Amino acid sequence: MLTFFNEHHVQHANPFEQFRGKRVPASERPERVDVVAAELTRRGLGRIVTPHGAALASLERVHTARYLHFLRSAWNAWLALDPQNVERELLPSAWPVQGMRRDVEPDNFTGKLGLYAFDNGTPLTAGTWIAAKTGADCAINAAHALRLGERASFALTRPPGHHAGADYFGGYCFLNNAALAAQHLLDDGLQRVAILDIDYHHGNGTQQIFYGRKDVLFVSLHADPRADYPFYTGHADETGEGDGIGCNLNLPLAHGTTAAQWLAALETACLKMAAFAPQALVVSLGVDGFAGDPRSHFGLASADFLRIGERIGYLGLPTVFVFEGGSVVPELGINTVNVLEGFETAA
Ligand SMILES: [Zn+2]
Repeated sequence: MLTFFNEHHVQHANPFEQFRGKRVPASERPERVDVVAAELTRRGLGRIVTPHGAALASLERVHTARYLHFLRSAWNAWLALDPQNVERELLPSAWPVQGMRRDVEPDNFTGKLGLYAFDNGTPLTAGTWIAAKTGADCAINAAHALRLGERASFALTRPPGHHAGADYFGGYCFLNNAALAAQHLLDDGLQRVAILDIDYHHGNGTQQIFYGRKDVLFVSLHADPRADYPFYTGHADETGEGDGIGCNLNLPLAHGTTAAQWLAALETACLKMAAFAPQALVVSLGVDGFAGDPRSHFGLASADFLRIGERIGYLGLPTVFVFEGGSVVPELGINTVNVLEGFETAA
């Protein structure tokens, strides 16, 4: 297992986020990846290396050029409005809902910000672009490592990515690392890639990016969106569109789902992936389904993450793991590395 570590992740650090009208301590914070790196090192699960910088053109294979331009320039545009904004949180306040225009980018900064955001819980900071770009570099390098002969690789990065769409950010995500890894594998010459998203939340951004395509199968196990974020996608009847019909499988799970039920859903996911006959797999590795995670309403224990990794390993596919969600709890590093160790055991 070769791990690519995003050492610039610390530059994206906002002390607070909004929750039900309150300013609360941010949950997506730098120590998330540090504890995973420490656990990886403790167990000796392979080398940890720094990624090479990927060309902007590789990001444009997944994200729109105008969205990338916005992300790169947003902080300076925010400071240009008022130098004192350096002390303030950059959060949207207006959004284009259905029936409003999304094709025209407003000149007004507030309008622009709302066009590219889908929630107000994802502050953009001075260091967001460098952290997100370096994170994307990890994912692209991890994908490329398969071509160079690695059986498996891990992009240990934050901010996470699976909520970010082709032209929007939210859910703490700015660039869709899993989608960038999958697209890189295709651009390296593969014909079919599967993405398995095991984060507690639906990977709405990844689904959106590949929804009309037949070269990428997206399979997601997550909390039922009727009960949980991101609320508006993730239902079982979302199966793809156009060429992509049948290439999207959502397995929404009710609050109270036990480990046995979760693992049964994983079996369904694995059968679907095997039938697709992918040449490689990308795993959106979120461990916020852990019973001890404050976000979770599932019953997964630390030992279950070993089983999950093993089952993924039995697919026998070259695999890129991309770090997604998981709150800072004492088991965060253990659970994440359990998936990787389980995979290595089975592979
Ligand atoms: Zn999550």
